[in-house]
Amino acid sequence: MSDIHIIGGGLAGSEAAWQAAGAGLEVTLHEMRPVQNTDAHQTDSLAELVCSNSFRSDDAQNNAVGLLHEEMRRAGSLVMRAADAHKLPAGGALAVDRHGFAAAVTKALEDHPHITIAREEITQLPVRGQVIVATGPLTSAALGAEIARITGTGHLAFFDAIAPIIHRDSINFDIAWFQSRYDKEGPGGGVADYINLPLDRPQYEAFVAALLAGEKTDFKEWEKSTPYFEACLPIEVMAARGLDTLRFGPMKPVGLKDPRKDERPHAVVQLRQDNKLGTLWNMVGFQTKLKYAEQVRIFRTIPGLENAEFARLGGLHRNTFLNSPRLLDSRLRLRAAPHLRFAGQITGVEGYVESAAIGLLAGRFAAAERLERESVAPPATTALGALLGHITGGAEAASFQPMNVNFGLFPDLDKAGRMRGKDRKQALSARALADLAAWLGTRQAAE
Ligand SMILES: Cc1cc2nc3c(=O)[nH]c(=O)nc-3n(C[C@H](O)[C@H](O)[C@H](O)COP(=O)(O)OP(=O)(O)OC[C@H]3O[C@@H](n4cnc5c(N)ncnc54)[C@H](O)[C@@H]3O)c2cc1C
Repeated sequence: MSDIHIIGGGLAGSEAAWQAAGAGLEVTLHEMRPVQNTDAHQTDSLAELVCSNSFRSDDAQNNAVGLLHEEMRRAGSLVMRAADAHKLPAGGALAVDRHGFAAAVTKALEDHPHITIAREEITQLPVRGQVIVATGPLTSAALGAEIARITGTGHLAFFDAIAPIIHRDSINFDIAWFQSRYDKEGPGGGVADYINLPLDRPQYEAFVAALLAGEKTDFKEWEKSTPYFEACLPIEVMAARGLDTLRFGPMKPVGLKDPRKDERPHAVVQLRQDNKLGTLWNMVGFQTKLKYAEQVRIFRTIPGLENAEFARLGGLHRNTFLNSPRLLDSRLRLRAAPHLRFAGQITGVEGYVESAAIGLLAGRFAAAERLERESVAPPATTALGALLGHITGGAEAASFQPMNVNFGLFPDLDKAGRMRGKDRKQALSARALADLAAWLGTRQAAE
């Protein structure tokens, strides 16, 4: 009999199974492919990479995803072991031979004496036992409906409409100012909750022209048929409807006054706080299908964003994900049904590595609970802990959208708070790895 059931054998489910079985528990991993396929997967391998073959930067000292790689290696990650074994030349990035990588993960799990793999679609969630749901952005329709029923109306999204997110310390406050529209009081009592960026008429018209000319990514066939775009249009689609459409939409200037000129600008871009630390701000209403390089180029023409650093760029995709800050506790359990734990992209992280990282934590938490041991979360100063903290409470629930790991999620502490650029990143990384060692040590002592 299995101690833990894991639904979904993607990046997160495979890593969760490895971690839980590594703690000595009997695990059943339920994967629906090849019985039932998704719109993006091509094979029946576990941990298939559906698009790019890159795990992004492998620089653990200067890049948050590189740091996450390193933390996962130190925590015994199967996904990282297979990635390292099948890596391809890609400069500072970790790119992998996708077939070799997925075959290695599949073999390791198939050969594991404590893991059983069941090829079946799960459509109902068990009412008891230890369960990890890791069915990803393309969760099957039947299970998606079941999760929506259990989590309640409006807490499961079926697509993401991501507006770019900017590091606050890269915004030029000689131009930007804080104000809420009509100085209206927000839920937190503030009347200056937004960062505002003003455009005069020539700047606005040049911006609209750049949006129209900018290179876009194509909608996939199955994305075209998803009936959501009218309610959440990409800005370039709005811009194409008329010169003033954006000025009457997300760039409307009404109720705002540029304090330096004491006048209402022709158009305004507003940024809304995106995490409790106040380090990340999202561009309100700026979901877009512009290519990433084009977003950086065009958005840096907005006054105040000349040197903007983006924690993530905009996008619009099919994606099933929970409002985790509202629904999940700090150990990834559904508050309303704590025997159900979630992992991977469905928890609102974004990316292969982040999905696997949350799988790693879910597997460890589930194993600790089954063994009646204390499950200690990684410190918030580590990449694992920062990511976990973001999705389970650090992010604003009302505007929650999927997030990559980035240094904006890390608490600034001590001297790292006064540092800038490379020095700051390196100090945050060094602190993370030291704190991780203490966490891994505590866990090993407990085991
Ligand atoms: C089209 C697309 C392209 C992407 N490209 C990239 C990229 O280039 N780089 C990047 O870093 N991230 C990318 N992502 C985002 C994300 O990193 C990946 O989707 C990643 O695979 C998520 O890992 P996961 O384990 O959460 O889900 P998945 O890896 O998708 O695993 C979920 C598994 O659950 C199975 N499943 C679903 N429903 C059921 C069910 N009811 N019963 C049993 N099994 C089920 C699926 O078959 C699948 O194997 C992309 C996402 C999509 C949708």
